[in-house]
Amino acid sequence: MSTCNHDCKSCKSKCENDSTKFLVKTSEQNHIKKIIGVVSGKGGVGKSATTSLLAVACAKMGYKVGIMDADITGPSIPQAFGLKDGLVGDGDLMYPGETSLGIKVVSINLLLEDPTKPVVWRGPVIGGAVKQFYTDVLWEDLDFLFVDMPPGTGDVALTVFQSLPIDGVIIVSTPQDLVEMIVKKAVNMADMMHIKVLGLVENMSYFTCPDCGKKIELFGPSKLESVAKELNIAPLAQFPIDPELARLVDAGEIENYELPDLTKVFDMLESIQK
Ligand code: ADP
Repeated sequence: MSTCNHDCKSCKSKCENDSTKFLVKTSEQNHIKKIIGVVSGKGGVGKSATTSLLAVACAKMGYKVGIMDADITGPSIPQAFGLKDGLVGDGDLMYPGETSLGIKVVSINLLLEDPTKPVVWRGPVIGGAVKQFYTDVLWEDLDFLFVDMPPGTGDVALTVFQSLPIDGVIIVSTPQDLVEMIVKKAVNMADMMHIKVLGLVENMSYFTCPDCGKKIELFGPSKLESVAKELNIAPLAQFPIDPELARLVDAGEIENYELPDLTKVFDMLESIQK
């Protein structure tokens, strides 16, 4: 439709592109204000680290936050927060794990007896698990639920986009992916699914020399602004390559990381709260 604003939730017209027709429902005990997907064009770009940092930043601002680890075959959220205890439930709903800052976390790694065993499941089974992370978990009141999406634009990402009432996605990219425009695939997928792109984060953007403090752009000058402009999306933040971040993730202490400037992220989150 020529007047389509890509917001199927608020649109009343019956249309074949209606993205709400496969949505599943969460428990009546849950009141989740906004669901934000964190996506990347490919794996290993720091999508989970970014999801975790965004959640930590929001929790420190006083928001009620949850993280759904939908990256079923490469779950890394529990590790970053040092969560080990298996999840329990009441026969009806599953209770999420909780970090020191009170961030609620659900991940397949908290359900497997041996988290080192690979999840060798077919796409529909993985998709089913992700849906259950929404329908069968007692999230209670949340301002933001961040969904750490599987990398790429495959089957499970499609299931998440179709089944969960996602309010928008944040795209995470490395400088190299910005050059190669791998990020464009993620933007195109969101467009095709009528999901709003909330902005772009450039991870591993630069390195600060520990001796002289000089900012070194290992992959050349940042392309964040120019690519964001070209794709007509908001540039949100740049994260440096920081061995301290890697160390804290490995130690399960990401909540102790000194956060970079996230002003634009908070402005965006505030604007979608309205
Ligand atoms: P993805 O979710 O995209 O697969 P991860 O967030 O799991 O990627 O990151 C991959 C690895 O890189 C992890 O060990 C993580 O701690 C590390 N890492 C991510 N971002 C940074 C960064 N900015 N500086 C240092 N290490 C990082």
